[in-house]
Amino acid sequence: MSSNTKLAASIRAIADYPKPGIVFRDITTLLGDAAAFREAVDQLVAPYQGLGVDKIAGIEARGFILGGALAHQLSAGFVPIRKKGKLPHATVRIAYSLEYGVDEMEMHVDAVKPGEKVILTDDLIATGGTAEGAVKLLRQQGAEIVSACFVIDLPDLGGRAKLEALGVEVRTLVE
Ligand code: 5GP
Repeated sequence: MSSNTKLAASIRAIADYPKPGIVFRDITTLLGDAAAFREAVDQLVAPYQGLGVDKIAGIEARGFILGGALAHQLSAGFVPIRKKGKLPHATVRIAYSLEYGVDEMEMHVDAVKPGEKVILTDDLIATGGTAEGAVKLLRQQGAEIVSACFVIDLPDLGGRAKLEALGVEVRTLVE
């Protein structure tokens, strides 16, 4: 089995979650498998070694788990991007589109400095609405988005194309 086939096999599909007709891709099984978690982190960081990345920005909540590991491996800082109202210091906020409706995300106003090289991460990209919001928020604060990386791409939903249209390189491990 190739390493990416093994990674794909370590992800659990949950039918009808969070609502009927949706198949949820559950990465807790990948995270709980020591070899799969290491393999995913190793593959995600490999293209970024030596680029002088300043910070990893992770999207709440599963992007925090991956982002912490990536930041450690790349000797970078970590920036949490959270649902509104969760961060204690002064924040900047942006509205972003979900499959049905809109929500808002925030980060601390001083979380990135202008010109810092940032990689965005989350577990999965679907429509790309969440990642697009995060890219815009980070850029508003002057970050240079080096790349965005995800364990899972759902290509039919167009998220990769949405980010690439913003000039963001996208890397994913399994479809
Ligand atoms: P998008 O904004 O690209 O449509 O949705 C991506 C966001 O929703 C990510 O933050 C991701 O964690 C979450 N998400 C949507 N569908 C799934 C899924 O099937 N599995 C997981 N693990 N996360 C999902």
